[in-house]
Amino acid sequence: MMFIDAHAHMISRTTDDYEAMAASGVVALIEPAFWIGQPRTNVGSYFDYLSHIVGFERFRAGQFGIRHYCTIGLNSKEANNEALAEGVMEILPRFAVKEGVVAIGEIGYDEQTALEDRYFRAQLELAKELGLPVMIHTPHRDKKRGTTRSMDVCIEHGVPPSMVVVDHNNEETVEEVLDRGFWAAFSIYPSTKMGNARMVEILKRYGGERIIVDSACDWGISDPLAVAKTARLALDRGIPEEHVRLACYANALAAYGQSGQMNEADWLDPPAIDQRTLYEGNSVLRGGREPVIESPGERRGMDRLIIE
Ligand SMILES: [Zn+2]
Repeated sequence: MMFIDAHAHMISRTTDDYEAMAASGVVALIEPAFWIGQPRTNVGSYFDYLSHIVGFERFRAGQFGIRHYCTIGLNSKEANNEALAEGVMEILPRFAVKEGVVAIGEIGYDEQTALEDRYFRAQLELAKELGLPVMIHTPHRDKKRGTTRSMDVCIEHGVPPSMVVVDHNNEETVEEVLDRGFWAAFSIYPSTKMGNARMVEILKRYGGERIIVDSACDWGISDPLAVAKTARLALDRGIPEEHVRLACYANALAAYGQSGQMNEADWLDPPAIDQRTLYEGNSVLRGGREPVIESPGERRGMDRLIIE
């Protein structure tokens, strides 16, 4: 089975994670622009970060057999630094039109402050202007209210639910998100957001329509194999294969494919890996490693079991 991890902060992960994800069946992933832990103090560091996720990270993923897409946005936490937020809003449009950008995101609320509200609305307008989908980060605290409010604001700005993925759902929010016609994404993020046994119960109850499973893997305690593991657990527990395929692959493609930037052909017929390739003068090889060079059309998978 092929998987798409529709929310993965790969800038925080190692190459081993890319290799493991590819071996587990992940063919493509989406890296949303987000908070890196250390607060950014000026627009320059945001500029470099956005350049990284549309640039080197995309290249690095490709060198390990995974197609990399991203979303561009000012995150809600940093919307509270007004001087920074103003500067970031100015540079967003030029990043949002780059190749491989599939949405404006992840945006929404953190503490649900007035500044977060202002920049959330401004970015919805940007998404509308560019015809891009939106990825919404729902808050950890007061999640139910924040989720309802995020959807209300989308409607108020005339952004149709079919263009909005509401992420980090749980049992408390899923029904309203689905009833209102939005895409409902779930981050399988250990011990805080959603575990995969709980996710399987949700699939049992709601089926696979408009549900998206992702790992949200980042610098915190998280599992880059969460999508593949959830799919396996769901199949083991009797969820129909078609529902698993929708939630772990097809829905993410349908939702973010609306950007026109993400097509199945990207991974069904990918360029052969050649790790001699350079990106701005650098390759992914560290410490004089031997490059992996594939012949065109060569299939990658789990058939090579020897670990050297
Ligand atoms: Zn995230």
